[in-house]
Amino acid sequence: MDWKNEIIGLPLNVIILEDSSTDFELISEQLRSAGFALNINHAYNRDEFISLLSNGNCCDIILSDFNLPGFDAFEALEISKKLRPDTPFICISGSIGEEIAIEILKNGAVDYVLKDRPNRLPFAVKRALDEQKEKSALKLAEEELKRNEAKFRTLTENIPDIIVRFDKNLRHIYINPAIEKITGIRKEHFIGKTNEDLNMPMELVSIWNEKMNYVFQTGEQRIYEFDFETNDSTHSFLSMLVPEFSEDGAVHTLLCVTRDITDRKRIENDLRKSEERLRDIIFSSADWVWEVDKEGRYTFSSQKVKELLVASEKEILGKTPFDFMPEEEAKRVSEIFAGVVTKREAIVDLENWNIGKNGELICLLTNGRPILNEVGELIGYRGIDKNITERKLSEQELIKAKERAEESDRLKSAFLANMSHEIRTPMNGILGFAGLLKNSDLSGEQQQEYIRIIEKSGERMLNIINDIVSISKIESGIVDVRLSDTNINSQMQHVYDSLVFDADSKGINLSCVCEAADNEVIVRTDSEKINGILTNLVKNAIKYTFTVKVEYGYTAKDDLIEFYVKDTGIGIPKERQDAIFERFIQADIVDKMARQGAGLGLAISKAYVEMLGGKIWVESEEGVGSLFSFTLPRNQVH
Ligand code: ADP
Repeated sequence: MDWKNEIIGLPLNVIILEDSSTDFELISEQLRSAGFALNINHAYNRDEFISLLSNGNCCDIILSDFNLPGFDAFEALEISKKLRPDTPFICISGSIGEEIAIEILKNGAVDYVLKDRPNRLPFAVKRALDEQKEKSALKLAEEELKRNEAKFRTLTENIPDIIVRFDKNLRHIYINPAIEKITGIRKEHFIGKTNEDLNMPMELVSIWNEKMNYVFQTGEQRIYEFDFETNDSTHSFLSMLVPEFSEDGAVHTLLCVTRDITDRKRIENDLRKSEERLRDIIFSSADWVWEVDKEGRYTFSSQKVKELLVASEKEILGKTPFDFMPEEEAKRVSEIFAGVVTKREAIVDLENWNIGKNGELICLLTNGRPILNEVGELIGYRGIDKNITERKLSEQELIKAKERAEESDRLKSAFLANMSHEIRTPMNGILGFAGLLKNSDLSGEQQQEYIRIIEKSGERMLNIINDIVSISKIESGIVDVRLSDTNINSQMQHVYDSLVFDADSKGINLSCVCEAADNEVIVRTDSEKINGILTNLVKNAIKYTFTVKVEYGYTAKDDLIEFYVKDTGIGIPKERQDAIFERFIQADIVDKMARQGAGLGLAISKAYVEMLGGKIWVESEEGVGSLFSFTLPRNQVH
């Protein structure tokens, strides 16, 4: 038999209550021969039986004779039910009649075996053991169920989420106490009612009904977020509708778990608002906002960068600030950065020059703070760059202007000192020689010589005074330009006539070259100023020349006339070639020989040339000579 194998294994713990030793042997033998491994405890009477049941020994089954000395199987059954309620009890006896047999079964014995049919005993034992096994499994399952139910109840009664069970008519059939905390309404109020009965707004009711019906029909769960006005304020809820499948596979009820997400929503909302606020600030800021990782590579950039370094925000990601700096600047700034990063300090007002997207130099003022992760490690920097290029350039301009002003102040003082010398020298000449003329012993020749010196000094004085007057007029902006049709050739000739004597007296060959015919060089311009410019340039050429030739002339072009005055004189050092056109500059020249005038001639000439719409410049080499040039536009706009 199959079950034989099954039961051979662990020995079966049996208590046999039997006053007859022969019957005891018979019963034991019967079970052994059926294949049971046995661990038998034998009780002859009531006391032994009680003591065996009470001593805590393991007992799988009780086999009891019906008639026992001083008591019977009924009493033995009562004792065993009391002491070992879960141990199956089988009554074994001679014929006791059907009624008693039924009675004992009713009282709780699991079977009844007649001694004259002992071969039924193993089957009875086997069945009793199986039944007991099933019973205890069932009991365990029931206990587990109870435990689970208790757990579920504790959970649902204490959870802050609202848990509702709805039936197919969408009525509340269970609701946990959380509802009372949230709505202030007693949970009993909901039971048996639909959302409609509870006066929920119609709009919400229809959405709810639609969702619940969907779950009932499809057996799929649904998630739903909604706002609801409770006693105190508006709450936001998140509901999960879960179908509950019964054994037939149909959904007769659904479970709805609803969580109050008002706080979460508020936090999300606040977070969203502050993110929006931050984004608006970042993107409307006139400055550039950036983030770099700990290697200094850009990981975020506001769109402002498009006006500074690159064509699009994306282009800057992965690059470092040093990629945009000239080499020297990158070296300087990276050293500062390295120091700041090691100490995890903020970057404060760091001015740095960068090459802008169009190749122009841009000065940025950088401020930034370290970004640390949750465990305090440095993971990058975040900051703002301000474009201060204009400010920097105007600062530089201001510094230059200040230096210029100081320089001009110094030059003016020097000029005044020089002027008094320049005026006093001819004055002394005039007064001195006028005094000498009073002497009646003078020869006619000496008198003539003294008069010539007085005239020369007077002329020099007049020139100086004229220059001072002209430059003051220029300075105060009251010089008029008087236009008239001017024949350039006549102007050239006029200058020649007035200076050829001076040139001759120094042994200089003065040559005036007029390349065009008179009618080709009639220009509407200020003839007096042209004369002034030419006279000054030619005079200087004669003055600073000790060789043989001074040549001046012009080239007539379509839109302008370009004049030149060429000498083979002392020349002008490179570094002074710009300065000679500045006002009062002559006073600054150390070279004694050059100090033979007020130093205003070229400044006046330059001012006149510019008033007439032209330009003046010099090409010169020291010891070789100078070539002064200036242009005169034909169409004088004034
Ligand atoms: P001034 O001749 O009265 O000193 P200018 O303004 O005409 O003043 O000239 C300024 C300075 O430029 C002169 O002092 C001289 O040093 C230099 N300079 C001008 N013309 C010449 C020239 N042709 N050759 C060499 N130096 C010249």
